[in-house]
Amino acid sequence: MKKVVKFGGSSLASAKQFKKVGEIIRGDKSRRFVVPSAPGKRHDKDEKVTDLLYQCYDGAADGKSYKKILEKIKERYAEIIDGLDINLNLDHEFATIEENFLKKAGRDYAASRGEYLNGLVMAEYLGYEFIDAAEVIFFDADGNFNAELTNKELGERLEHVERAVIPGFYGAKDDGTIKTFSRGGSDITGSIVAKAIHADMYENWTDVSGFLVADPRIIKNPEVIETITYRELRELAYMGASVLHEDAIFPVRKEGIPINIRNTNKPEDKGTLIVESTCRKPHYTITGIAGKKGFCSINIEKAMMNAEVGFGRKVLEVFEKYGISFEHMPSGIDTMTVFVHQSEFEDYEQSVIAGIHRAVEPDFLEMESDLALVAVVGRGMKATRGTAGRIFSALAHSRVNVKMIDQGSSELNIIIGVKNADFEEAIRAIYDIFITTEV
Ligand code: ASP
Repeated sequence: MKKVVKFGGSSLASAKQFKKVGEIIRGDKSRRFVVPSAPGKRHDKDEKVTDLLYQCYDGAADGKSYKKILEKIKERYAEIIDGLDINLNLDHEFATIEENFLKKAGRDYAASRGEYLNGLVMAEYLGYEFIDAAEVIFFDADGNFNAELTNKELGERLEHVERAVIPGFYGAKDDGTIKTFSRGGSDITGSIVAKAIHADMYENWTDVSGFLVADPRIIKNPEVIETITYRELRELAYMGASVLHEDAIFPVRKEGIPINIRNTNKPEDKGTLIVESTCRKPHYTITGIAGKKGFCSINIEKAMMNAEVGFGRKVLEVFEKYGISFEHMPSGIDTMTVFVHQSEFEDYEQSVIAGIHRAVEPDFLEMESDLALVAVVGRGMKATRGTAGRIFSALAHSRVNVKMIDQGSSELNIIIGVKNADFEEAIRAIYDIFITTEV
């Protein structure tokens, strides 16, 4: 059994957190490959080392003051090293980093040092081999991740390695320049390593006990999702629920390697298991509820619209021209409604309206703003009758007016449009009917 374990910034923010991580790793012999993030926040008002590194670099590269921030960063690592009582001196590393900052080695180089240094600390603490991600994670000259080359080289490099620490978040281009993934990218590194070594499991350790069925700011103590499929996760992530970097699912998904989201502060919790597919019966009919506020709808009416070939294309071309992506597009025989993000749309509103008038000469055009979309997601809905009925009767009971309904033919989700003001109430009503009252 081989596991890749990735630890997020809050799991590695202090010596105290490092010790919890050490116990977790030593508690299971199969946890052989460790991917650390940079030290994150120790409390709400704290700063992430990655953010400090960006600030420090910007100062140094612009010829402004940076020493104070550099000291802060050094102190973060000193606290960890002292607290762990390990024999490691980072003076030389910090001297190189400072030199490279002054030589303007790049913001990506700067940010990556958080993971690099934490990797050195972690390897020393665990007695594992340290493998610099710059030697095994590759990007092309344009900065795109080179999956094929990385998988080959990384697989070969790790084949005969028993235990190693590989820092997350970065890799290097052909010419050796350091390149990072987008923020939160250590999740991606973990996934890449899991694929390369054909891991049995990719454990992603963070500070929550998995994905929650609904937003805890709306539902008090929501249930944790035990098992979720990659497709369900995508549906929920796109509506705003995020624990894991979106790109982290791609490397492992095709390999059938499950991801287990775990809580470093509550290692006894089982967390959420993300899988390609499962025949395990879901606990509840629905897996999760997510949503977003701030949409507006453009309703277009024209007699005989259904007979006009190319009508939809012409309308959507207008949105495309202004770089506006649409979220949903329910239609009737002579109507078509386009849902867009209000913030993206507002600046171009009048141009888009004029464009639609010119493109399709509608009989009537109406807009409505301040709308929210709620996605009810669940693989269990396919096999269950009456899901939609229960959703809508719950909403009716809570006096929430439904403005739009969209169910994909995959029967994996039902999207409901409501007024922004009804958003929280709609989520509460759906949660209650499926989770609180379902046994
Ligand atoms: N340290 C980086 C960040 O703060 C990457 C990561 O934590 O995954 O975004």
